[in-house]
Amino acid sequence: MQSELSVRLNDEGYKNWIKAGFCLQKIRDCLLRFVNTEMEKFHQFLLRTNSVLQRESCKKFCRAQGTNFQRACSLCGEWKREILNHHTNQNNVIYWGNCSPPLWPKYAWEVAKVYMPRGQANRQGLENCDVAALLNLINSCDQFDFVERQKVIEIIKCRNDLMHSVEMRVSTKWLDNYRQKILELLQEFQHIPEAKAANKVIQEIASSDWQVQITGTDAVDALKFTDEEIDANVIFNAELELIREWVEELCFAVEEQEVLQIQHLNSLNTFKELLKQNKELESVLHQEVEQLYNLEKKLKSGMRTVNDQDGEEWNLEEK
Ligand SMILES: [Zn+2]
Repeated sequence: MQSELSVRLNDEGYKNWIKAGFCLQKIRDCLLRFVNTEMEKFHQFLLRTNSVLQRESCKKFCRAQGTNFQRACSLCGEWKREILNHHTNQNNVIYWGNCSPPLWPKYAWEVAKVYMPRGQANRQGLENCDVAALLNLINSCDQFDFVERQKVIEIIKCRNDLMHSVEMRVSTKWLDNYRQKILELLQEFQHIPEAKAANKVIQEIASSDWQVQITGTDAVDALKFTDEEIDANVIFNAELELIREWVEELCFAVEEQEVLQIQHLNSLNTFKELLKQNKELESVLHQEVEQLYNLEKKLKSGMRTVNDQDGEEWNLEEK
């Protein structure tokens, strides 16, 4: 398994991409506990300051869908109003469908999901959310007013660069720039011990050269990680997590557009090529491979793809 990983890590751009993803996962891990505590405080504050919200429960099984939540009962309507009141940018698209409104009085987490990007409906608990969800929550909820938002936005942009990278690669220059931005973001959270510790690790990951040490004939025991050795499995797991998120983003992007963009088609081909050359990845990414086949099927059933730059048309079957 790890010998294939070592070959992949010989590709500088791909290695940078994994390192950057690894750093994102560290940012999430170090902020989780803190954000969770803040959202509990926020939820308590709403309940304490608005007596309407203390009413027992929603009797009408209110449901929201996508960006729509029109038919709310009076209790859910009041929650909706309060949640919007504390949104830092009410002109943003709000994914009400992320949550189940009748659960708002009970769970802070269900309220937090309103401030997150699409796709949170099936996620239970803050510990299961990705860094994009966490950063968007910090950016959109005024409970986090002490944070300089621009620094959060910069990391959200970097995260989007990673997820929309057609080649699953980033340059060393990009990685250096990103490392600086992480440093600036984590300065906002220096009062959290986890953030302080993560900062050190992140700076090491980003600046180190993951040398591959082959100790057996075809096995890699460990990847050299600055002066210490890091288990190759840690890197492999970070890689898997990043690929899963990348595939999920690709699926969202395709679903949202009636016409497929050429970059999505190219991304699809990058993923196929990666799987072709790395059987170990194919064997563990079952769900993602299935998603890929479904996407392809959809394309082959007649969907035309258009290059938005010059209007050139593509058809997958001709590729
Ligand atoms: Zn209701």
